[in-house]
Amino acid sequence: MSASVLVVALAALLGVVIGSFLNVVALRVPAGVSLLRESRCPGCDTPVAWRHNVPVLGWLVLRGRCATCGTSIPGRYPLVEAVTGLAYAGGTALWWHRLPYADLPQASDWVVLAAFGVFVSAGIVLTLIDLDTQRLPDVVVLPSTVVTAVLLTLACLLGAGWERLAHAGIGAVGLWAFYALVRLVRPDGMGGGDVKLAVLVGGCLGWVGWGALFVGALAAFVLGGVFGLALLARRRSGRRTTVPFGPWMLGGSWVGIVVGQAVGDAYWRLAGL
Ligand SMILES: [Zn+2]
Repeated sequence: MSASVLVVALAALLGVVIGSFLNVVALRVPAGVSLLRESRCPGCDTPVAWRHNVPVLGWLVLRGRCATCGTSIPGRYPLVEAVTGLAYAGGTALWWHRLPYADLPQASDWVVLAAFGVFVSAGIVLTLIDLDTQRLPDVVVLPSTVVTAVLLTLACLLGAGWERLAHAGIGAVGLWAFYALVRLVRPDGMGGGDVKLAVLVGGCLGWVGWGALFVGALAAFVLGGVFGLALLARRRSGRRTTVPFGPWMLGGSWVGIVVGQAVGDAYWRLAGL
């Protein structure tokens, strides 16, 4: 088995475990409950046994019901765990594929991978909280932004190239300014949390490249617009209902990270440059 396959498999395993933690964060942060409290069944308050807490498998073994009282456990929990595992595996495979050399990853590459691990984790937990509560809590957004910035700076100290950090800074300030402007023009359409989140999203996109930044920023509005129109068409939401925008910003950023470079290159070719 090649090293890349092993690393991607380990990333998938780490992802399902982190996904389990993200479920806890998404549930407890809006409710103001400590993250350190043990998990208990909401129906009968019995502590959850460790073997039933194993990501995805625990839920399958229980067939989605509490072992003691039979209260149903939402399928969202194993789904989030599986999605996080897939996101970690996919992101790690992409990262390995884009290493600029055939050699094994350097220390700085691993730190960059960790920074984007924080970004994807924050993205999943913020998507859940925004869908549940239409809020993007500072207590998640701000530490995620600081930790990502510290990790990207550390990667530069280890030799990743300072120009990439400069690009991240430009992306962060640029996307923040863009969202701040949108909020200024349409205060009812864009929340303050979206503007703060733009620093993290713009920084990560800028680090990846200009193509990623432009495609990522644009994709958020395309995804958000299509979803908003679909809601309108199904009359599930009135015109004045705010549609959570955080998930589209975050989902759009991954479109930018995955295809941004290719789209950017194609654009420059078409423009004849
Ligand atoms: Zn129970």
